[in-house]
Amino acid sequence: MDNIYNLTLTDLENYFVGQNEKKYKGQQVFDWLYRKRVVSFDEMTNLKKEVIDSLKKEFTMRTLSITKVERDIDVNKYLFALSDHEKVEAVLMDHLYGNSLCISTQVGCNMGCKFCESGRLKKVRNLETHEMIEQILLVEEECGKRISHVVVMGIGEPFDNYDNLIKFIEIINHPKGIELGSRHITVSTCGVVPKIKEFMNLPYQVNLAVSLHAPNNEIRNQIMPINKVYPIEILMTTLKEYIKKTNRRVTFEYILLDGINDTSECAIELANLVKEMNCYINLIPYNETNNISYKRTKPLNISKFYDILKKNRINVTIRREYGSKISAACGQLRSKKED
Ligand code: SAH
Repeated sequence: MDNIYNLTLTDLENYFVGQNEKKYKGQQVFDWLYRKRVVSFDEMTNLKKEVIDSLKKEFTMRTLSITKVERDIDVNKYLFALSDHEKVEAVLMDHLYGNSLCISTQVGCNMGCKFCESGRLKKVRNLETHEMIEQILLVEEECGKRISHVVVMGIGEPFDNYDNLIKFIEIINHPKGIELGSRHITVSTCGVVPKIKEFMNLPYQVNLAVSLHAPNNEIRNQIMPINKVYPIEILMTTLKEYIKKTNRRVTFEYILLDGINDTSECAIELANLVKEMNCYINLIPYNETNNISYKRTKPLNISKFYDILKKNRINVTIRREYGSKISAACGQLRSKKED
């Protein structure tokens, strides 16, 4: 049985046409799901009973439940149970410009980044589109606020679950549904080059963030296995193509790990690497975790690193920290449960 939240508006319309029903019923169902936000087919009161019955036979609806919420001043962290009892998490951040939700795309992750808690627990499976959408619906219901931004930076590598991700974007972006503007959606990848190439050809103006975390192959190979498949030169060439084609700015994420990638030489090398690219760098103080020995860079060294980039006229910010007290770093809540 398929899940109703896996269907785009066009899929729903085609479904009804296939049932010898009027195409506009697709639009009505889409409206019930994403505007009126009903949680059962019985609530779709402008549909005939036979139509409701066949929808019930054909589709499941809600499958996720929130099993835990941790709250801090400006951040809520949600743990969800999936229908097969696997767990994923999402983080809601309260920004000046709105509420941003960081969602998961896989149960675990196979990219194996050495500093990352999600990768310590291998991928169990991809999330389906509906499981990504349900994270948004459930969090909005729980907190009573409208989510204005979605960042695809939770557990998993989104470009290792590409088709489900793209369908998710199509559905949440649709003007007749949740209507999240594409500029309010950010996808973060560790650098899966072939998928960056596909992504640049899509009609959406979605933001792309790339987890760089090192200025050269030597360091990047040590901490991110994906770099052995798609080394930095290839990644950078692809991103230059992406920028040219989409005319959009790329964000580089750079976690600062004490003694690993945070020296002045690294900062200079990084500045040279991204020089003249339409990009900005987000420096991320590492969230230490019990299971991994990397340490966060001392505040003074973070400032030094930042200053070198600034002096080289690179757009750079130091990421404001949310929820380090409540294990909001990638994969930490789920991992606590598994230990
Ligand atoms: N797989 C995607 C998205 C998920 S990870 C990617 O690699 O971009 C989201 C971001 O959190 C990545 O930049 C990742 O490197 C970073 N991250 C992982 N563990 C972290 C930690 N303990 N502290 C800070 N950032 C972390």
